[in-house]
Amino acid sequence: MADSPLRMRPEIAALPAYRQGRQAVADGYKLSSNENPFGPLVEIVEAVARAEVNRYPDATGPALRAKLGERFGVGAQEVHLGAGSVALLSQFLLAVCEPGSEVVYAWRSFEAYPGLVTVAGGTSVQVPLGPGARHDLDAMADAVTDGTRAVIVCTPNNPTGPIVWSAEFERFMTRIPSDVLVLLDEAYFEFVRDPEAVDGSTLIGRYPNLVLLRTFSKAWGLAGLRLGYAVGPEHILDAARAVAIPLSVTGQAQLAGLVALDHEDLLLDRVADIVVTRSRLVEGLRALGFDVPDAQGNFVWLALGGATAAADDVFHEHGVVVRAFPGDGIRISIGEQESVDRVLEGAALLR
Ligand SMILES: *Cc1c(COP(=O)(O)O)cnc(C)c1O
Repeated sequence: MADSPLRMRPEIAALPAYRQGRQAVADGYKLSSNENPFGPLVEIVEAVARAEVNRYPDATGPALRAKLGERFGVGAQEVHLGAGSVALLSQFLLAVCEPGSEVVYAWRSFEAYPGLVTVAGGTSVQVPLGPGARHDLDAMADAVTDGTRAVIVCTPNNPTGPIVWSAEFERFMTRIPSDVLVLLDEAYFEFVRDPEAVDGSTLIGRYPNLVLLRTFSKAWGLAGLRLGYAVGPEHILDAARAVAIPLSVTGQAQLAGLVALDHEDLLLDRVADIVVTRSRLVEGLRALGFDVPDAQGNFVWLALGGATAAADDVFHEHGVVVRAFPGDGIRISIGEQESVDRVLEGAALLR
């Protein structure tokens, strides 16, 4: 609406509208949003049904925060819940950014980052991924200036897959001024099998400016309920709490999160299944000649460049909904075991 008289923030008016992945196709597989292919446990369905939906939730989620705090060896005040970890990212950025503040992150990375930074009034500083589609942490540290308020590190990196190693992350932290917030986005932590990978839970209390973000959406299979959490220094989490839209974490989400933690073994068995499926898919794609970066999340990346849009159509016609980043590549989520053959058939058509 270029001729609308409404005065609006120009950078918001210029933002692309949110585009969700294509929806499922009949008899096909929806592998476009890194969702968990397993349906909810009955216990979770029952817990959701128990929530009193005529009442507001206790949105600070004291029971769930206490339980998570125990797991991470911190107090409940060092845990903060959000309606998905995207909501948390937004809160932290709103809390630290002033107009023009710089936020450094790798690119390509999570597609939500640019918009969240802009909405927070900040300016994105995107640092190209290095070899192997991995974060270039040295270049990211070099990109920090007096104007930098936050750095986001995504490990495993969505959509390319590789993790950040523990040793390189610790080196990186020594180079980041302690007044710059570091958000360690570990949305896919549970799928990681590389023993050298950074594990934010081992770094709690070591740095005054480090916050980790995790989610129940991926490994825990609760994407539709919207539940994520942050662990970090209390005063930083308090700033996010101050910015949060009140009462946005529902009672259903909290109850489901508690039940999910009680069934951790079973849910992690499912994750192990997904990891096996991931290996089959990665090996199959490499056998077809694709150069697939190390896949440590529940997705794989094909850097197809200019061939991306055409490949997206081929997969779609073949009953596989993938996430295409035009001009760059395609991300394929690890879904049902049966989906692997279908994906490989589609991929073979591209060779
Ligand atoms: C999926 C994802 C999230 C979190 O999603 P929520 O559903 O909002 O918890 C956060 N970061 C990355 C990189 C993701 O891919």
